Amino acid sequence: MSVQVFGLPVSRGVAIGRAVLVASSWVDVAHYFIEADQVGPEIRRLKAARDQVCREFEALKLDVQGDTPAELVALLDVHLMLLHDEVLASATRQWIEERHYNAEWAVAAQLETLSRQFDEMEDEYLRERKADLEQVAERLIRTLAAHSGHGDASALGPVVSCEGDVPVVLVANDISPADMMQFKGGVFRGFVTDVGGRTSHTAIVARSLDIPAVVGARDASRIIRQDDWIIIDGDAGLVIVDPSPMILEEYRFRQRQGQLERDRLARLRHRPAVSLDGQRVQLLANIELPSDAAAAVEAGAEGVGLFRSEFLFMNRGGRLPDEQEQYEAYRDVVIALRGLPVTIRTIDIGADKPLDRMSLSELRHEHSLNPAMGLRAIRWSLADPGMFMVQLRAILRAAQHGSVRLLVPMISHPGEIRAALDMIERARESLRRDGIAFGDVAVGAMIEVPAAALMLPIFLKHFDFISIGTNDLIQYTLAIDRADESVAHLYDPWHPAVLGLVASTIQATRAAGKEVCICGEMAGDAEFTEMLLAVGLRSFSMHPSQLPAIKQRILRTEIAALEPQAALALVGDDPRAIWAAGRVRALAAIAQVA
Ligand code: PEP
Ligand code: MG
Repeated sequence: MSVQVFGLPVSRGVAIGRAVLVASSWVDVAHYFIEADQVGPEIRRLKAARDQVCREFEALKLDVQGDTPAELVALLDVHLMLLHDEVLASATRQWIEERHYNAEWAVAAQLETLSRQFDEMEDEYLRERKADLEQVAERLIRTLAAHSGHGDASALGPVVSCEGDVPVVLVANDISPADMMQFKGGVFRGFVTDVGGRTSHTAIVARSLDIPAVVGARDASRIIRQDDWIIIDGDAGLVIVDPSPMILEEYRFRQRQGQLERDRLARLRHRPAVSLDGQRVQLLANIELPSDAAAAVEAGAEGVGLFRSEFLFMNRGGRLPDEQEQYEAYRDVVIALRGLPVTIRTIDIGADKPLDRMSLSELRHEHSLNPAMGLRAIRWSLADPGMFMVQLRAILRAAQHGSVRLLVPMISHPGEIRAALDMIERARESLRRDGIAFGDVAVGAMIEVPAAALMLPIFLKHFDFISIGTNDLIQYTLAIDRADESVAHLYDPWHPAVLGLVASTIQATRAAGKEVCICGEMAGDAEFTEMLLAVGLRSFSMHPSQLPAIKQRILRTEIAALEPQAALALVGDDPRAIWAAGRVRALAAIAQVA
């Protein structure tokens, strides 16, 4: 029977595929398809790993001393029994034979299927055997990974993929941004998670992958079973489980239409973004890794408006990149952009972006009750001056290869302005002292907290440019955790306080003769393009996949005609309604003149 699950639409388009359920603790298992002629060797690899784990358990049993508790010996027997279980082994093999999953993925898939069955058992003793199963599967996967060439057991690395016959989509309770990065270029055609908000970093990374995604779908990972056929409607925030043939056909049609529309928009790639009344608008790209730079250029971006450098620091098991490694990463982006400006934001770690994989609830538990208000972004950098200095030196060195702008996130206190600028100056001095070449950089600040927006004149005195981070500005203005789906309905970019802060920041920065850009998700959302143009924004930064649709909006907008309505919306109780009503009138007036 077909079931619908509702969540938040975070990445547009339609994905259709078989569900791969991944428990949070298993997200970093390698997922890739094997070729048909590799099925036999892959099954042998699985068997060899199973034999090795059996031998290890047997050796442990032989090692048992007289004073070892009997329960431990019994536990080893249970584990050995599970490993020898022929039904279990053949079900795991089936994933390899029929779906061409790699062995680690086959074990994880079978574990997920059995976990459900254990959860539904009435008998408590049997239910508790799930933990044994998990331990055995974990050992098996680690053994497989250690001999796979896909990374060692402690860092089951990113995934090599080849196209499988059956499309697959990932369903999980939660995926951290760091884990999401591992899926770049991977096998999954779409994502569904139980938790998360529209501008959570997991959602942002899903958008950067440009594949349909729904987050905050609450019970999705409980309702959907391993291998179910599902449709992910990333425009509506809808997941359809086990769809009827008619619904499937309807969505296949929409998939084809979506592709045609994308192909059509892609033709705007090299056209400058100029409004109907001749205003030139700059369209920039947000990127997470140096490898994203090529896609930004390809999509027609006029530069990088936000390089979220923190993604270089993730998934490294605590070992941070040194100055040379960072320098090379920044330099590669600068060179790839061939003279176009590259805005590198200093590390913004913390909140829902832990350095290593960790679910949001673990993060809240282990670090602080409210990480969004805690040690993140510039607070983190200033708390660890050694790390910050390494990053600043690397950015300054990269600046000799092109046009680099250095951006500081989440400043909320004048003391942080002084401290950050002082560190930048000290980084320059230390490079000079060491005789190392570096380049000039413009230094900008992000406006992400209301305090910053309210003391904008102080920022304008000290910084060369301003970038508005609407994701955080909304979160902190409205006191809404951007990663919490239970308050997602209150996360409102149309809120009068938010629009007021955004508009006044744009207008005051322009009046001071400095550049202002928006690099939050609002910039890539076509619903806000005209409003932002009407309040004076002329520089937008977004994921490359969003550029064509925003450019199309700009090409069709007569900005001057919308300005009076924007002014009215900014002082009204319900800016969205005022804006919508006025926009219809303005368009009608333009149509009459035409
Ligand atoms: C923002 O807050 O709008 C922003 C661009 O920064 P991030 O999403 O990385 O917090
Ligand atoms: Mg931010």
